[in-house]
Amino acid sequence: AAKRKPLVAGNWKMNFDHLEATYFVQKLSWLLKDARFNYRRCEVALFPSFTSLRSVQVLVEADKIHIKYGAQAVSVTNQGAFTGDISADMIAHLGCSYVIIGHSERRKYHPEDDANIVDQVRAVLAAGMRPILCVGESFEERRQGIELDFAVGQVRDVTRDLNEDEAAKLIVAYEPVWAIGTGMVATPDSAQDAAHAIRADLEQTFNADVANSVRILYGGSVTSKNAAELIGEPDVDGFLVGGASLDANEFARICRIA
Ligand code: PEP
Repeated sequence: AAKRKPLVAGNWKMNFDHLEATYFVQKLSWLLKDARFNYRRCEVALFPSFTSLRSVQVLVEADKIHIKYGAQAVSVTNQGAFTGDISADMIAHLGCSYVIIGHSERRKYHPEDDANIVDQVRAVLAAGMRPILCVGESFEERRQGIELDFAVGQVRDVTRDLNEDEAAKLIVAYEPVWAIGTGMVATPDSAQDAAHAIRADLEQTFNADVANSVRILYGGSVTSKNAAELIGEPDVDGFLVGGASLDANEFARICRIA
């Protein structure tokens, strides 16, 4: 993971209102400051609910906090009669750097998103942000031994419609579905195998520059207990953290390990 800047991303899912969110950002910023955390060596990003983004923006700008933030989902259209949807431009105007796309919970509960994941990626890139594309097999594919092909296939479903410049801006989160929120973390070897397979496929589809610039995160029951050995793998460039991102002390520990 030497050549790419690590990224530790905290996916809060549907937790924290805007007051809890701003309190958390302040607390995390204090904890990392106390630990003399070097943001130039590792990026930290939080993913609050839409309803908290404006409050987080105001706080981050007023206090010059170096923590980045983004949204958990996005509409594929830019404006119009789409009740309840939020466009990429609206998200970008709130100072967001990233948008999580294709999280397994979105793929499961909002199946209409499946067909248009590539459109979401395009919308995010067009608005000047970076997509964090989530892929990963369920227990069934792992049982059949086809987990690498499955995850690589999910990445390819998106990259076949992108050019080199667009692909180089992707961040991929390899998140085996059986590891999300279960306490069953992938072994460092299997996280590395998946990250390596995805990177090798990017090199084949595009070139070595694209493959070397795309950050590949691991997600699935990451804690401060297992983070060190996972980040030690050469193709693992950081984490997408769910449950453990809801505790500022624990999340700060993971940031320091990365
Ligand atoms: C996630 O939902 O992206 C995730 C990795 O969750 P957890 O860390 O709780 O397994």
